[in-house]
Amino acid sequence: MELLLPLARDLLRRRSITPADDGAQSALAATLERLGFTVTPLRFGNIENLFAERAGAGPHLAFAGHTDVVPPGEGWLHDPFGAEIADDMLFGRGAVDMKGAIAAFIAAAADTPGHVSLIITGDEEAEAIDGTAKILEWMEAHGKIPDFCLVGEPTCRVALGDTVKIGRRGSLNAAITVPGRQGHAAYPHLADNPIHRLIPALAELAARELDQGSEFFQPSSLQITSVDVGNPATNVIPGRATARLNIRFNPAHNEASLTDWLTETLARHAPQAELAIHCSGEAFLTAPGPHTAALTAAITATTGITPEQNTGGGTSDARFISRYCPVAEFGLVGATMHQTDERVPIAELRQLAAIYQTFITSPGA
Ligand SMILES: [Zn+2]
Repeated sequence: MELLLPLARDLLRRRSITPADDGAQSALAATLERLGFTVTPLRFGNIENLFAERAGAGPHLAFAGHTDVVPPGEGWLHDPFGAEIADDMLFGRGAVDMKGAIAAFIAAAADTPGHVSLIITGDEEAEAIDGTAKILEWMEAHGKIPDFCLVGEPTCRVALGDTVKIGRRGSLNAAITVPGRQGHAAYPHLADNPIHRLIPALAELAARELDQGSEFFQPSSLQITSVDVGNPATNVIPGRATARLNIRFNPAHNEASLTDWLTETLARHAPQAELAIHCSGEAFLTAPGPHTAALTAAITATTGITPEQNTGGGTSDARFISRYCPVAEFGLVGATMHQTDERVPIAELRQLAAIYQTFITSPGA
């Protein structure tokens, strides 16, 4: 555990604002090799990533994290890349999200036997195209898919141990374009008003109750985010109308089922409409099992808190991992993530390492 603070501070001093790396990945690789891991650097596009593995008895447990950070912005009292310690807290961009958790996991694994690997990307905060998704493809091709993966994103709200994430909602964006025929407002029979087709379609979409939610999920929700015609005239029927919408959905739906629904609804109201869909992640839920039970037990043993298991928040890289193996997320308290003077109490960082260590060694894991 004496590794924890020096490693966390070394990482925090790297200006690894996506897509920059500033030596963060090679610093990790050097540490992991010293600890007996076999490290495979994986460069995709201009992004540095790595996979590290140490053989051992028992199930194959993976830890996933990212070394990239969001820009610091203005107004810090402590140097965002200085790794300063004040009032028993460690300051720096990435202290919480999530260089601190990476250091905690490596410190935990350092003196703990077992089959452990790390999936570390430099592309999580931006597009996430050349990161975790591609590392998992590489892992599958090389027979490295773990039995369980723990993502170290900050999940806790108030106290370390209060929240584990066992799934995430999916997110789908749609852009609708309804063509019509432009014309004089006084001669509508010579025109085809696209707004009169778009509005009933949107009304029908917005009116549907997608589902009522479930034990671990909020109800799915469709939100119309923009309706645009851009018509400056009062006496012109416009030639086309567009709209955009976003759907946050639970596992009762998926990209295919939502696409079918949107397509079918539009076809009835506006047969010529064009629909462009981008799904940034499917919904997933990791059913309770031995690994999530071991994680919960490790948290309770260390903190005395029984964590709530939920699926709140936006998407994370867990959406890529869930296609291959069960995945849960547990990390620090997220209160200062992406904020000025991002910081973690050192005692909390040590506690996180202790939780990870108990989890790695627990028979259920
Ligand atoms: Zn993060």
